[in-house]
Amino acid sequence: MPTPHTQPNDKDMVYEFGNLALMSDALVTESGQGGLNRALQIVSVLQTTLDCESLIEIFSQEISAMIPHQSVLYEHQTQGIRLEVCSPARHSCSYQLSAAGQSLGELTITRSTVFNHQETTLFEHLLCSLVYPLRNALLYKGALTAALRDPLTGANNRAAMNTAIIREIELAQRHNTPLSLIALDIDLFKQINDEYGHTAGDSILQAVVGRISECTRSSDMLFRYGGEEFTILLSNTAKDGAMLLAERIRRTIYTSSYKYGNELIPTSASLGVACVNAEDNARTLFERADMAMYEAKNAGRNCVKLAAGS
Ligand code: GH3
Ligand code: MG
Ligand code: MG
Repeated sequence: MPTPHTQPNDKDMVYEFGNLALMSDALVTESGQGGLNRALQIVSVLQTTLDCESLIEIFSQEISAMIPHQSVLYEHQTQGIRLEVCSPARHSCSYQLSAAGQSLGELTITRSTVFNHQETTLFEHLLCSLVYPLRNALLYKGALTAALRDPLTGANNRAAMNTAIIREIELAQRHNTPLSLIALDIDLFKQINDEYGHTAGDSILQAVVGRISECTRSSDMLFRYGGEEFTILLSNTAKDGAMLLAERIRRTIYTSSYKYGNELIPTSASLGVACVNAEDNARTLFERADMAMYEAKNAGRNCVKLAAGS
């Protein structure tokens, strides 16, 4: 068993948890028969949610009477999760969690006074109750993410787009902030498939997503809503900013080289930009951007058009 560290910022312990009997024994030793009831209560409360954030908050609340602490930080780098409950204090106690060889991230509690040996031992045992609910929450989060992502390009999919446009329009209209939507369709893509093959076409789709991502900020949301059709939802972005970005994306796609085997595949896209107005809903905003994109097609492709009413 690793030695608990209670110095500030100690983060070097890897500990395999999950033994409920071990936890119960420890709690009986540390806090009498009441501790066992407490352990069972913690386990059942933690099983009430599959949301990582709620889980960490509940765990923090449930253990606070036994191990007083000021903040909790949970980090899982590969899954891009960082949850902080309250601001950190000087002394910390950190554990890297794992189950069946799978990393479940790192949990740190902090406070202004040093954690003593009895508390760190108890904390280790209490973590036993967190490991499996946490693993289930991470699996659930992974499944949700996969359901909203296009597996070929890694962009968000149509289901994600529908939810995001509804949410962002509501926010923009409530706070009176600008919102723009770019619709993008790759030009003559059928011809690319016919001339170079379907696999080459797939690689173009992936490369175009890469080019778009190079042009956008992290707050911009990219969706693949059809075969070679994409949207980019720009919160807090008005007409001028959206037109500038659309033009930058168009130019980047057109001027990049797309190599497949020994072949260079010329690629361009047509884009339509719509900015939300007071009458818009998710459907009309999308339709306006889509119509502007078709105007760009009719104007000869490889260009950007602004939707009427923007
Ligand atoms: P336009 O410039 O008018 O948009 O012409 P286009 O050829 O791009 O449009 P069209 O809608 O005729 O063709 C789209 C093609 O995209 C047809 C379809 O087979 C292809 N496609 C759709 N999804 C995929 C995919 O996942 N991979 C590949 N390689 N091709 C796809
Ligand atoms: Mg199309
Ligand atoms: Mg097309």
